[in-house]
Amino acid sequence: MNGQRDQSTCDHHSPQPVLCAKPERVHWQPAQSAERFARRPHVIAWTCECWPIVYEKLMTGGSYLIRRTDQNDRVSAVPLESSPTSRKEADVLWRRLMSGTAV
Ligand SMILES: [Zn+2]
Repeated sequence: MNGQRDQSTCDHHSPQPVLCAKPERVHWQPAQSAERFARRPHVIAWTCECWPIVYEKLMTGGSYLIRRTDQNDRVSAVPLESSPTSRKEADVLWRRLMSGTAV
């Protein structure tokens, strides 16, 4: 039996960002969800956890934002967030993150 397959720990049911040579840097700020959000935000999209950086698209009180968590940095693991914005702008940012043109 020589049927070697990649035994990934993940079945990749969530998308992964693509790497880009010259991504534009998003203005991230430290997440402060618990204090700031009146209601718990809904996670409406997320990337695969086998990727070092996990992105989540959140909706809260009619605003949308992207949360960025660097899994390599668990010790000082403060997630970062984009500024709350409209659904349209959050979708644009999400697509740019997924396409690797923004980080
Ligand atoms: Zn994966």
